[in-house]
Amino acid sequence: MPNLYHNDIYQFEKPVKSYWESTVNDKNKYKTLDKELNANVVIIGGGYTGLSCALSLAKKYNEDVILLEAGHIGWGSSGRNAGFCCIPPAKMSVKKMFKKYGRKETQKFFKNTIEGSNFTKNIIKEFNIDCDLTGDSNYEVAPHPSYFEGIKEEAETYKKEFGIETEVFSKEEFNEIGHGGNEQFGAMSYKPGFAINPLKFLLGLANAANAAGVKIYQKSKVTKIEKTNGKYKIVSNGNIINANKIVMATNGFYKDDIFPKLNNIILPVISNIIITRPLTDDEIKSHNFITNNPVLNIRNLLFYYRLLKDKRFIFGARGDLIGSEKSSLEKSKHMERQMKNVFPNWKDVNIDFHWRGLVAVTTKFSPSIGKLDDDEIYYSFGYQANGVNTAPWSGNELAKLITSNSKDLNISKFYKGLPSKFPFPKLRLLYLRLYLIYYSLIDK
Ligand SMILES: Cc1cc2nc3c(=O)[nH]c(=O)nc-3n(C[C@H](O)[C@H](O)[C@H](O)COP(=O)(O)OP(=O)(O)OC[C@H]3O[C@@H](n4cnc5c(N)ncnc54)[C@H](O)[C@@H]3O)c2cc1C
Repeated sequence: MPNLYHNDIYQFEKPVKSYWESTVNDKNKYKTLDKELNANVVIIGGGYTGLSCALSLAKKYNEDVILLEAGHIGWGSSGRNAGFCCIPPAKMSVKKMFKKYGRKETQKFFKNTIEGSNFTKNIIKEFNIDCDLTGDSNYEVAPHPSYFEGIKEEAETYKKEFGIETEVFSKEEFNEIGHGGNEQFGAMSYKPGFAINPLKFLLGLANAANAAGVKIYQKSKVTKIEKTNGKYKIVSNGNIINANKIVMATNGFYKDDIFPKLNNIILPVISNIIITRPLTDDEIKSHNFITNNPVLNIRNLLFYYRLLKDKRFIFGARGDLIGSEKSSLEKSKHMERQMKNVFPNWKDVNIDFHWRGLVAVTTKFSPSIGKLDDDEIYYSFGYQANGVNTAPWSGNELAKLITSNSKDLNISKFYKGLPSKFPFPKLRLLYLRLYLIYYSLIDK
């Protein structure tokens, strides 16, 4: 099937010109696969999911692991996201969660998602990863007075049902501790929440996995998987790796091209980021932008933003539906106008960086962690744009699954099982277009 998006977005060999890439040096130390090899486990995809799984397999279970990444290590969304560690990794209201899975299961899901945030933070600590960790909670901001009641309710539900520490702020209170601007009508905070430089975190994870014995190959795209007598031949750069088990850790960049059972189950959605030049202190003060915590403006089509340590402002939103470089540039101009409508005193501030990447949305609107029936193929994907929280933790859960005999995990049902395939998968972008039109009308 042809790509859903323009080929520009799948240029694995071309580094993305993100701000994060400009903050690191040691990117290119991994080799490209150039010979035949054998391994017990081959991991496809070198983002947080693949690297965390590889690290756990090698370090905790002494497994023999090879990891193959199509781009350079750090090319995928894990190296180019906004670095927000948010919860929960599901696109549905708590009411809907209760209805679909029941109260107890939803509580277990939130417990797991808090474990996810702590897992990410503990990796940073354990491996001493210098990744500009900042913030002590996340803020959700009402973009219109009509959203404030909902925010208060959410804060109460989080506290009462899930034991999460929350606080509610009126517009005036948030202006003192958060920020002002045209779309701030009160807010809530929840813990844990923080932000990181996503690429520095990823490279730290890769270093730890490498040191634990994982053989990492970059610029090594897998083009074919063949199964003979229960074993797998994985083809990359014209070489074959013979393996007993495979981990698919390709998330939004999977192109429905290597394993039919896994085709047509994600809707890759573009997310875009723009970053300003460093703001002056006066510019920052002009909107009372005091906080370093990540902020989500909870429009239906979210805006997410925060101040970076060099005083640049990062602003993210849903991307375009084409995927070409041209459409990305046009989208970034549109986002610049959106950002400047929210923070009008920054109307003359230049944008220094813009880029985009793919997140994976699924029909079940929550992640999937598991193993294919009748195959030694393991998967984890569909974090609904919350991979900083969920992907490292999921990678570790996958490692447990791969090494256990029971082939079941003690985690919430929210994560278990494959989502159903999209009906008429060629129409996936049409479904997304209709969704975006509907919610952008509501947001207006
Ligand atoms: C612009 C943007 C902003 C975001 N902001 C946030 C945020 O602030 N907080 C948050 O929690 N989440 C955010 N996300 C989502 C988050 O980045 C992802 O959920 C997370 O990185 C997924 O990790 P992963 O390892 O599963 O996938 P990825 O990091 O995407 O890794 C998958 C890898 O698989 C590789 N691959 C694909 N096909 C093949 C193949 N055939 N052979 C070999 N390798 C292959 C790709 O090259 C890629 O590197 C954002 C995403 C984007 C795009």
